[in-house]
Amino acid sequence: MNLIGKKALITGASRGLGKAIAIKLAELGADIVINDIGNEEEAESVVKEIESLGRNSLFIKADISDFEQAKELVDNALKEIGSIDIVVNNAGITRDNLLLRMSEEDFDSVIDVNLKGVFNITKSILRPILKTRNASIINISSIVGISGNAGQTNYSASKAGVIGFTKSLAKEIAKKNIRVNAIAPGFIETDMTEKLSDDIIESYKSSIPLGRLGTADDIANTVAFLASDISSYITGQVIVVDGGMI
Ligand code: NAD
Repeated sequence: MNLIGKKALITGASRGLGKAIAIKLAELGADIVINDIGNEEEAESVVKEIESLGRNSLFIKADISDFEQAKELVDNALKEIGSIDIVVNNAGITRDNLLLRMSEEDFDSVIDVNLKGVFNITKSILRPILKTRNASIINISSIVGISGNAGQTNYSASKAGVIGFTKSLAKEIAKKNIRVNAIAPGFIETDMTEKLSDDIIESYKSSIPLGRLGTADDIANTVAFLASDISSYITGQVIVVDGGMI
């Protein structure tokens, strides 16, 4: 499996899963545009790491929840690297609370980044990517978008929305040989899960048949598979990567 000659845009890629995905795709031969809303230093160090692998990379700062910024990000990425044939909509946030205590702002901000952000980037890239006649769009959802989770009505709704978006767009653009798939990670060790208490981590582990939390590499490997031509007959799917949890 290789991605030689391919060019990828990855949102929220200064750290966590996005960073691991960026490095993995670069190791397989792709040039990478890194996006993030902030974390400039971390993002630039990801760019350097990718360049040290002999690939081209650049960082473009943008808030993908803002349509104009997302469009500008895509336009600038295309200006710099010519074309994009892999898009990984990875940027995401949580603002967890029981619905009784959840503010409207916390509901809106999670939907704006996790779901509207996927629309903003994908809509902006759509015309240029259709011209490639061979591209892969990969949306990072979550198992809670399938199974639900107390305290995450906003997050679960956003991630379920991403699945509906993925399946519908896959049907719209399959005839142009552009594939659209989603990945639903379970519990993966990153900054996002570090906020959880040891007790919660242990209780989750006991509900995971494979007996461990996932690693960023588990997700990056799945993205690499969906990005590569090895998965050329797969579109409109959700691949659950959760150690058997749901
Ligand atoms: P993370 O918080 O470590 O990284 C997310 C990145 O997105 C950050 O660098 C952040 O700055 C960036 N970001 C946030 N808002 C943005 C915006 N508006 N514009 C651009 N960038 C923005 O999180 P992670 O754990 O690496 O998660 C990555 C994705 O995987 C998210 O979509 C998350 O919902 C999903 N996910 C994670 C897990 C897990 O266990 N870690 C499980 C299921 C799904």
